[in-house]
Amino acid sequence: MNPNFLQTPIAYLKGVGPNRADVLKAELGIETFRDLLHLFPNRYLDRTSYYKINQLQPSGADVQVVGKIVHLKTVEQKRGKRLVASFVDETGQMDLVWFRGLKWIKENLKLNEPYVVFGRVNKYGSTFSMPHPEMETLQKHQQGLKMVMQPIYPSTEKLSKKGITNRAISKMMQQLFVECKGQFPESLSQNLLEELKLISKSAALFNVHFPKNQELLAKAQFRLKFEELFFVQLRLISQNLQRKQKIKGMPFVAVGEKFTEFFKKHLPFELTNAQKRVIKEIRNDLGSNAQMNRLLQGDVGSGKTIVALMCMLLAIDNGFQTCLMAPTEILATQHYNGLKELLEHMDVKIALLTGSTKKSERTLLHNQLENGNLNILVGTHAVLEDKVQFRNLGLAIVDEQHRFGVAQRSKLWHKNQTPPHILVMTATPIPRTLAMSLYGDLDISVIDELPPGRKPIKTVHRYDSNRLKVFGFIKDEIKKGRQIYIVYPLIQESEALDYKDLMDGYESIVRDFPQPEYQISIVHGKMKPADKDYEMERFVKGETQIMIATTVIEVGVNVPNASVMIIESAERFGLSQLHQLRGRVGRGAEQSFCILMTSHKLSEDAKTRLQTMVSTNDGFEIAEVDLKLRGPGDLMGTQQSGMLNLKIADIVKDNQILKTARYYAIQLLKQDPRLEKAENAPILNAFSKMMANKTIWNYIS
Ligand code: ADP
Ligand code: MG
Repeated sequence: MNPNFLQTPIAYLKGVGPNRADVLKAELGIETFRDLLHLFPNRYLDRTSYYKINQLQPSGADVQVVGKIVHLKTVEQKRGKRLVASFVDETGQMDLVWFRGLKWIKENLKLNEPYVVFGRVNKYGSTFSMPHPEMETLQKHQQGLKMVMQPIYPSTEKLSKKGITNRAISKMMQQLFVECKGQFPESLSQNLLEELKLISKSAALFNVHFPKNQELLAKAQFRLKFEELFFVQLRLISQNLQRKQKIKGMPFVAVGEKFTEFFKKHLPFELTNAQKRVIKEIRNDLGSNAQMNRLLQGDVGSGKTIVALMCMLLAIDNGFQTCLMAPTEILATQHYNGLKELLEHMDVKIALLTGSTKKSERTLLHNQLENGNLNILVGTHAVLEDKVQFRNLGLAIVDEQHRFGVAQRSKLWHKNQTPPHILVMTATPIPRTLAMSLYGDLDISVIDELPPGRKPIKTVHRYDSNRLKVFGFIKDEIKKGRQIYIVYPLIQESEALDYKDLMDGYESIVRDFPQPEYQISIVHGKMKPADKDYEMERFVKGETQIMIATTVIEVGVNVPNASVMIIESAERFGLSQLHQLRGRVGRGAEQSFCILMTSHKLSEDAKTRLQTMVSTNDGFEIAEVDLKLRGPGDLMGTQQSGMLNLKIADIVKDNQILKTARYYAIQLLKQDPRLEKAENAPILNAFSKMMANKTIWNYIS
C-alpha cells in the first residue's frame, strides 16, 4: 500500500462524494480514509444468539427473537396512531410497535410467517414490547447470515437525516477495507506482539469493524487499546526523560545544619512512615543533577506542610532561598504563622507577601529578597509578580495545585537563571495511574497515611425534614465547647438564588441560636476581603461558635476545635468538593462529624455520592468513584485529560491495560532509549510521526 494512501480525502472513497464528505467532516470530524478507519464502534449488537420470549429481560438491550405475527391492530391515541402486532413463539407473546410508516408496514407484513425481529425491548406491565424492530423473514435471514456481530458507530441526528445511517457507515468501512486490501502497517514490535499475545494490526482493525465472534472482538479491542495507551505513555515518559537531561538542576548535596537541627530538636511529632518516604524521594531529586518537578499528593490532614518545611530547610542549608505559595490570602497567612511557630527557635528569616502587604513593607521585602537576607517567602500569587526578584531561588513549593496552572508554574521556572526545583502539593486525590497519564511531566510522591491518633470523621446523611434534630445535636456539641461549620453551595449559574438560600439559612440559624448565648460568623464571596478576614478571625480565635459560609472555606483554614461540618444541599456538591469540605474537621483530638443535608429529591448519581461519603474517609477511594461518575475530563485540575484525545481506550475502565502499557513503555525506553534497535523500527516509525503531529491515531497506522 502506498504510505500516503490513508491520507486520501474521504470524498474519494467510492460511495461517499463531496456532499457526504462535508457531513462526515462536520459531524464526526472525518476528513481522510484514516479518520474513517479510526472511527471505532461504540457498541456491538450480538446477532449470534436468539432469545425466547420467556427469556426476555427488561434490560433495554437489543435482542433477536424468532416468531410469528398472529394479530395486527391500529390503536388511536391522542397524538396520532400506532400499529401494534402480537408476536408469538412457543414460549409466549410480545408486542411489536410502530409509530411511523404504518401504512407501508401494514401492507407488507405477513401474518403467521416466521420472522426474525431485532431491537430493544421494554416492559410495559407484564408485556414486553419492541418499538420499530428491524425484521426479516426467517428464510431470508438464514440465506443472508453474514454479519453476526453488528457494530454500532457513533451517530448524530444530522447524520441520520442525511441518510448516513449505521448501515451506510458499515458499507463505507467495507469499501475502505476492499481498497486497502485489509493490509495496514504494523506499529508494534514483534517482541511486544509475542510477549502480550497481541494480534496483528491488520487483524485488529479488521475484527474491530467486522468481528466474527466475541472472542476475536475482545482480542482486537485489547490490541488497539493497548497500542493507544502505550504510545501515550511513551510520549509522556520520553518527554519527562528529555526534560531531565536538558535542564540541569542545582544539586542540594548538603544535608546541613538547619535540616538536622530541626529534625533533632524542633520536630513537634514523629514523622509518619509515609512522610519519611516522601522526604527521601524529594531529597533524592534535590541531590541529583536534574531539576526536580514533583507532585506531592496527600489527603487533607496528611501532613504535607512539615514535608514542605523540611525541604525548604534543605534548600537553605545549600545556600538557596525558597518560597511557598498558596492559593488564598487566608491560607498563605496560616502557612506563614504555622511555619513561623515551627521555626521559632531557629535562625531562619521568613516573611509573608500577599495582595494586602503594605507598600513600605513590600519595598523592604523586595530588598531583602534581592540581597539574600530573606530565606523563606510565603505568599499568594503576588509572589509571581515580576517585581519580586530573588537573589537565588532554589526551591519553589506550590500548595493546592489545582488553583495553579501550567502557565504559573512556568513563571516560577523563570524566577532564577537556572530553574528552581519545584514541588507541587495537592490534596485532590487523583488515582495514581490517572495522575501518571495526565501529569507525565511531573514525578509523583504520595503520602498515603494519616498521622496517628486521628479519629475517623463520622459522616451521616440527613434529610431537611430532620433539621430540628440536627440543630439539637449542634447545641449539644457547642455545650461541649466545640465549633461548627455550616456550608452552603454557591454555583455560578444560580448565584442569586444561592445567596438567597444562604441568607435565609443565616436568618433561621440566628433565630434558633440566639445571642448572647450563641455567636455566629458569616463569610461569603460578596463580602469585602477585610470583613471576611475579620469574621474568619473571630471563628479562628473561638469567639464565635458557628461559621456560616459558602465554599470559600473549602481550601485552607485550620481550626482544630471545629468538630462538626454541616453541608447544606449536599446533593449539589461534587464528591471531591464534599471531601475537601469534610477535611476542615477532624483536625483536633475530639470526635468529629460531617452531616450531609439534602432534600428528598435525589438523582441516582447524587445518591451514589452521598453513600460514598458516608461509607469512606479515604480520599483515593472517593476519587475513584468520582472518576467513574464524572469521567476524567471533569476532575479538578485534570483539564489536560482532553489532550489525550483517546479514541478507543477509556482511562477509567481500561485502567489495567493502562498499567500494562506504562510498564512496557518504561521497559522499552530502558532497553532502547532512542528506539534504535531494528526490532523496534515499527515503533520508532509510528512514534516519530506521532511526535511531529498532534494526535496519536493519525500516525500509528
Ligand atoms: P495537609 O496535608 O492537609 O496540609 P497539615 O500539614 O496541615 O496537613 O497537617 C495537618 C495536621 O497534622 C497539622 O496540625 C500537623 O501539625 C499535624 N501533623 C502532621 N504530621 C504529623 C505527624 N507525623 N504526627 C502528628 N501530627 C502531625
Ligand atoms: Mg495543607
